[in-house]
Amino acid sequence: MSNAEIGLIGLGTMGAALALNIADNGFDIAVWNRTTAKTKAFHDQAGDLAQRITPTDTLEDFVGALKSPRAIILMVPAGQPVDDQIAALRALLDDDDLIIDAGNANFHDTNRRARDAGDLPFLGIGVSGGEEGARFGPSIMGGGKRAYWDRVAHILTAIAAKHQGQPCATWMGEEGAGHFVKAVHNGIEYADMQMIAEAYGIMRDGLDMDHAAIADTFAAWDKGPLRSYLIEISGKVAAATDPATGQPMLDVIVDAAGQKGTGRWTVIEAQHLAAPIPAIEAAVVARNLSSQREARAAGEDLFGAAPHRIAHDVLSLDTLEEALIAGKILCYAQGFGMIEKASEQFDWALPLPAIAEVWREGCIIRSAMLDDMATALRENPQRNLMMAPKFADKLKATHGALRQVVAQAALHGIALPALSSGLAYFDAMRTARGTANMVQGQRDFFGAHGFARVDDDADGHHGPWGS
Ligand code: NDP
Repeated sequence: MSNAEIGLIGLGTMGAALALNIADNGFDIAVWNRTTAKTKAFHDQAGDLAQRITPTDTLEDFVGALKSPRAIILMVPAGQPVDDQIAALRALLDDDDLIIDAGNANFHDTNRRARDAGDLPFLGIGVSGGEEGARFGPSIMGGGKRAYWDRVAHILTAIAAKHQGQPCATWMGEEGAGHFVKAVHNGIEYADMQMIAEAYGIMRDGLDMDHAAIADTFAAWDKGPLRSYLIEISGKVAAATDPATGQPMLDVIVDAAGQKGTGRWTVIEAQHLAAPIPAIEAAVVARNLSSQREARAAGEDLFGAAPHRIAHDVLSLDTLEEALIAGKILCYAQGFGMIEKASEQFDWALPLPAIAEVWREGCIIRSAMLDDMATALRENPQRNLMMAPKFADKLKATHGALRQVVAQAALHGIALPALSSGLAYFDAMRTARGTANMVQGQRDFFGAHGFARVDDDADGHHGPWGS
């Protein structure tokens, strides 16, 4: 029977949750998974929703179960599996059937797939929120031809998270625009997580707080300007106890952070765009460095452990909270700045205020600040977010605290790569005359690269080095 409104391939963590969400919102859905046993198990466990779900064993049956023109979501690992799945499907589909890659594709791959598809309908959408988001309302960033988005927008907006009734699902632009925005989202996520981890390090190593006190501090911060999903879960992680040993859970977790590559893609792309995102870069570097456990242990043997303890009258938890507020603003300012650069470079007209809006619910970086960010970007999308009046006022009130935290951490040997690079970015962005005149002098000295003068902006002036 060809009656399912949409199809989904890939019943892993995300695909299974998304399929249940779609069924829960009243849409009939057909599903197919490479491993057939998983399809059956998924259907058996779908409860009341099973009646809206058509499980299929073969791709032919799957395609046959869908209403025409078909719409099919792929939720398989990024890379070759997506290309393989598209090729296998296209052989069975009609020319007006739509394929939607909803995995974490590199946006360059999505650009290529959109071009390769030619007139065959294709969308690349970024989905954020992890398993729970996929099940109960993710944030969705769409890319591809607008007409294809419009074909499935009623389903995508129905299943998306809602912020005060407004769906967190938006079309971002042509080709890979949705996956690009998702990548920057993940970059910001890396930096936000890293800054929170650095605050945890100050509390644990600098202020000698136990995990219960750290958990309470995160819980208190979650009621103020830092209110966000990441602060909330950080408190819960700090509060958890290992059932096997009775120790704080954080004490038994190895300090080497994993990554699937989206943060790295963001940093590489930022370099191509010449977009300064130092806090995000620092967060990726911190994850790379965290995996060098043996080298770090050898370093501690060689140089000795740092003198971590900071007196409580030197650094208060209020100061630490303010430092994190400043760091967070700076990290988002960098992320949105990168999106603005890409918008120009790729001619995408990325809707910056709408991006802040779709991130307000459903996704991992959802936070109270995004409402004000959306307002500030609506006033002026080209302006660096740190210069928007509301955020400039917040930074004026908090950058001193960030400076205190970074200075105390430096004096006590606590590494704060993301917070300190956030501070360096702030100071660089408030310095009208920097030091690149020296770099230009050096470049001209050894390579005759030329420079602009303060009294003549044209390039091509040279210094008196040769005389
Ligand atoms: P899982 O590993 O849980 O599931 C992967 C699914 O893809 C399985 O159904 C698997 O089938 C199928 N699959 C794997 N390889 C192939 C292949 N070569 N051809 C066809 N099907 C294949 O992954 P997730 O659900 O976590 O992730 C899916 C996508 O969503 C990825 O792109 C991921 O980056 C992205 N994503 C994940 C998030 C998360 O929090 N987990 C958040 C946002 C996006 P089988 O059962 O046969 O192995």
